[in-house]
Amino acid sequence: MLIVMIPDATESQVHGVVQKIESIGLRAHPSRGINRTVIGIIGNLEPIDPSPFTDLPGVAECVRITKPYKLVGRELKHDKTVIRIGKAEIGGDEAAIIAGVCAVESREQTMLTAQIVAEAGCRWFRGGAFKPRTSPYAFQGLGEEGLKILSDVRDQFGLRIVTEAVDEAALDLCERYADVIQIGTRNMQNFSLLKRAGQARTPILLKRGMSATLEEFLLAAEYIMVEGNCQVILCERGVRTFGNHARFTPDLSIIPMAQHLSHLPIIFDPSHSTGRRETVIPMARAGVAAGADGLLVDVHPCPERALCDGPQALFFDLFRKMVDEVRAIDRIIKDRHEIFGGALGQSNSPTSVYETAIL
Ligand code: PEP
Ligand code: MN
Repeated sequence: MLIVMIPDATESQVHGVVQKIESIGLRAHPSRGINRTVIGIIGNLEPIDPSPFTDLPGVAECVRITKPYKLVGRELKHDKTVIRIGKAEIGGDEAAIIAGVCAVESREQTMLTAQIVAEAGCRWFRGGAFKPRTSPYAFQGLGEEGLKILSDVRDQFGLRIVTEAVDEAALDLCERYADVIQIGTRNMQNFSLLKRAGQARTPILLKRGMSATLEEFLLAAEYIMVEGNCQVILCERGVRTFGNHARFTPDLSIIPMAQHLSHLPIIFDPSHSTGRRETVIPMARAGVAAGADGLLVDVHPCPERALCDGPQALFFDLFRKMVDEVRAIDRIIKDRHEIFGGALGQSNSPTSVYETAIL
């Protein structure tokens, strides 16, 4: 349930409602919007009786949250979440380009790639130090040594680091080095890892399970948020279908749908979703045209010799071309926002759904 406060509710009125919620063993999640505060009640298994709250000072009304996910949904927070680290943003005015190596293989390979990514004007660098590989005989990543190389990338180029934690022990280490911690497709429903990610204070990039529905995806994000980490970025990375012309099938329709249901940013990975260099740029263009808040892209100085996912890695010149093209598309989308409308044609006004409903 959602308790909507009157527009000029005082801090002590908000506090009074929070105390009332906690006194009956539930958790309060206040969200301060531009015009008013709303307080989400979470932790209940049964529907909540609104009567103890309706007459509290400052309460405008109590609204049932209809979706199974509470914190992730637009019912509780309509304004889009923007992840900000210094000047780097995901979910802000421009599509974020997170580019780099699939796996950190060596200092030289990583630094060469980081230089190209920085020169292209990108602010984010990806690189796996812990790799979830299908075969136990495949390269598993350099571990902490790889994280140290990534940390040097940040120092040298000012790029913000996105790296994957494959388990809780890796997450403990990633917290010390990374700006954003990735949870991969194979771990989207690793609930103990999601809970641990929720206890971190580092933003989490959550990739969609390769056969997960949107609801399962959003509930996985809810696992992270309910533990207290509200900085979650969703990532579409392709799903399994009967099509075998590509590694997976990019499901771009999830982008506007996720934006309709959730305030969290959603980015798109054209590399892992197609697995083929030839299709990465066209799909990257399509992802941004569909409104993705950013891209996650593999680049390699010499893809033929890559230890991981070489066939999908862009050569440096292709990467520069992709950046130019997607930026041009992104500008058109943002300039024409008024004409196109927001996700699913909604207006992108900061007015919240409940305000629209109430006023
Ligand atoms: C990755 O981004 O390096 C990765 C392993 O992706 P996914 O979990 O989507 O396969
Ligand atoms: Mn990869």
